[in-house]
Amino acid sequence: MATKKLARELGLLQRRNQSSSVPKKTVGSNQIFSYLIVIDFESTCWREKNNYNQEIIEFPAVLLNTRTGEIDSEFHNYVQPQEHPVLSEFCTELTGITQIQVEAGIPLHICLSQFNRWLQTLQHTMGVVFPNEQRNTSAPSATENMCTFLTWSDWDLGVCLQYECKRKQLHKPDVLNSWIDLRSTYRLFYSRKPKGLNGALQDLGIQFSGREHSGLDDSRNTARLAARMMSDGCVMRITRSLQSTSARLKSLIGKTSCSTDYKKEQVTVDEKENTVNPSKPSSSIHPALTASPDAATAGGMMKLVSGCSAKLY
Ligand code: AMP
Ligand code: MG
Repeated sequence: MATKKLARELGLLQRRNQSSSVPKKTVGSNQIFSYLIVIDFESTCWREKNNYNQEIIEFPAVLLNTRTGEIDSEFHNYVQPQEHPVLSEFCTELTGITQIQVEAGIPLHICLSQFNRWLQTLQHTMGVVFPNEQRNTSAPSATENMCTFLTWSDWDLGVCLQYECKRKQLHKPDVLNSWIDLRSTYRLFYSRKPKGLNGALQDLGIQFSGREHSGLDDSRNTARLAARMMSDGCVMRITRSLQSTSARLKSLIGKTSCSTDYKKEQVTVDEKENTVNPSKPSSSIHPALTASPDAATAGGMMKLVSGCSAKLY
């Protein structure tokens, strides 16, 4: 009981054998990453102020086992906004998150340290290793399970967390500096532009489960989508990195160099986009996303990834 209470306090929700909508078969035996941690933040927002400093109010993360397609562990916390402590009505309507929930939440710096502890637990109990971690050896050992982060668009890690940590001078775990953007991966793998996460699921005949714009439900549904894509033959590769890349990380990003001038690729903003910060984070964008031959099976070859950091709503 006491352990359960501690786990809850740490934002740790352990899940066992909870099935996703993906059939119980081996989903991705050919994957580079044994695990993917799917993150989908919710933040303060207002109907009209698109460029206001946004603060994270919900911090969920789900651990997707790429072999089984199951979610093996979850982390979840509501976070107290400090620059704009009172949620707008619009924000509560959109996300379903109430003033009471955020007031009962924790400040971002505490959430980040709990998140770090969750990651450490995964490292110790499941042999999870991150490609951009400072380590002595370059190759993962037999007991190590490679893991990276996955989000829908580059907004969560490239804009939202990045700028909030900069503004508040908070230390962000280094492992959060590279990730897979599932939206661009989806576009390239199926050669079509999805209409949001829900549209992407619907196109594959999957119904969104739960509440849209709830961070935890969005994360779980993003994980289901990723699992489906892997069972369709998509090999997940890192699409974005904010740090200079080690040889190890480079090898996981892509094998061929890009012939496109990726700097020309603009952050596109249309009326439906509520670009939190239209300027790009000071990142090194990796254009060299290439698919291994397996990725060609379902929806055509993956091409080069385009650099877009805006969130499509
Ligand atoms: P999502 O993951 O799509 O739920 O969006 C993440 C965050 O982006 C939300 O918590 C809001 O802060 C913001 N957002 C999403 N959709 C909208 C919208 N239509 N208008 C304003 N902000 C939005
Ligand atoms: Mg969301």
